[in-house]
Amino acid sequence: MDTTTLKIRILGDPVLRRKAACVKKVTAEHCEILKEMCRLMYESSGIGLAAPQVGISEAMIVVDIGSGLYKLINPRVIKREGHQAIEEGCLSVPGISIKVKRAKKILLSAIDETGSPVTVKAEDLLACVFQHEIGHLQGKLIVDYANFFDKIKIAKKMKSLKERPKSAALPKAQTKSGKLQL
Ligand SMILES: [Zn+2]
Repeated sequence: MDTTTLKIRILGDPVLRRKAACVKKVTAEHCEILKEMCRLMYESSGIGLAAPQVGISEAMIVVDIGSGLYKLINPRVIKREGHQAIEEGCLSVPGISIKVKRAKKILLSAIDETGSPVTVKAEDLLACVFQHEIGHLQGKLIVDYANFFDKIKIAKKMKSLKERPKSAALPKAQTKSGKLQL
């Protein structure tokens, strides 16, 4: 596979709703995809990206909130504690941010690029980002957490996205708004 052709998929693309398959054996191709996902995440000023967001229906995520890069395969939350609600954006749902209730502290189990099992403890923003990305692996998007007012906001946004000529790039404000892009 030529991973340089991967691009970020936008709401409406069916791959975002598919449940990602568990990776049985980590191959060089998986490592290539993870590398390309990191490039796309950084290029889009994102702090997390899941493989379905680049059209790959396999359980892989990358996360970097500024305190180090995580590349995780088959990540799973094995412990949850407390609650938090942070306004989240998503690279696959441009221009929308929605407050999502999630656990404040989590313990994750996953495997790394070498196929070795790892556990990761996370809290606050990092915990939020991991839960957001794991949501992508289950076909969940922030719009699924929308309340009535959010839904109006989303409908308006989708309309403006549809009316935007295909060749036009997203306005800079949407990627550099300072909002969390995951
Ligand atoms: Zn997202």
